[in-house]
Amino acid sequence: MNLSEKLKRVKVEAIKEIARGVYVLEYKRFFEFEAGQIISIALVENEDPRMYSIASGEQDPNVQILFNVVNDGQLTPIMAELEVGDFIWSSSGFGRFTGTEGEAWWIAQGTGIAPFASMLRSGQTRNKYLIHGGRYRESFYFADELSPVLGSNYIKCCSGEEIEGAFTGRVTDYLNSLTRLPVEALYYLCGSSEMVVEARDILIKKGVPFRKIIGEIYF
Ligand SMILES: Cc1cc2nc3c(=O)[nH]c(=O)nc-3n(C[C@H](O)[C@H](O)[C@H](O)COP(=O)(O)OP(=O)(O)OC[C@H]3O[C@@H](n4cnc5c(N)ncnc54)[C@H](O)[C@@H]3O)c2cc1C
Repeated sequence: MNLSEKLKRVKVEAIKEIARGVYVLEYKRFFEFEAGQIISIALVENEDPRMYSIASGEQDPNVQILFNVVNDGQLTPIMAELEVGDFIWSSSGFGRFTGTEGEAWWIAQGTGIAPFASMLRSGQTRNKYLIHGGRYRESFYFADELSPVLGSNYIKCCSGEEIEGAFTGRVTDYLNSLTRLPVEALYYLCGSSEMVVEARDILIKKGVPFRKIIGEIYF
């Protein structure tokens, strides 16, 4: 898809800071999509758009995205200042980072939790394992919703402080600590390029076939 094509003007229905510098933004859904897909967003019609994973479920009336402010970024500092009733430009959903009925390990860092929130909110809850890395206690976005559904299949990896019920360290430290990984499962990796590349290498070293690994890099 050409990223500058087919953006539609949409009205912000909700915007909330859910952790320091991390926001959830919503607008009315005007397209069908598959959980895990992304959209392009611009603040001005002909401006270069940026991509965001859809965090809301396939049937939810609003599209929700989760983003963190990049201080010297072009779009996110302004997007964080938006108010309900302001307008932005959005594409419809696209991309191939979509879910599976079978066993899947969802491995996320930071705002990379968004596509997995969408999969869970779309009813993909059977045989799903979620490993989420964040720096602080407040970094486990949507935990209140994920935890009751996934139970012990939801692993928080907290690298900046020790918190109860979480592994202390990064996602990659946690993966390194595992002795065995199922080879039939699909492994979804979402977050920074460093995390995705490092986690992919660990999975391969532990015997996961390359074709079972799917990555979405937030660059
Ligand atoms: C598939 C995909 C999905 C994504 N999903 C999400 C998501 O769900 N949530 C989320 O928060 N983010 C997501 N991102 C990242 C998002 O698209 C933006 O990159 C991010 O929000 C920063 O946008 P910005 O306009 O504020 O920053 P930008 O203006 O893009 O700047 C980002 C950084 O790059 C540097 N930079 C910019 N231009 C140059 C240049 N020419 N040379 C050198 N350095 C430069 C800036 O200084 C800054 O540090 C995703 C990215 C991809 C590719």
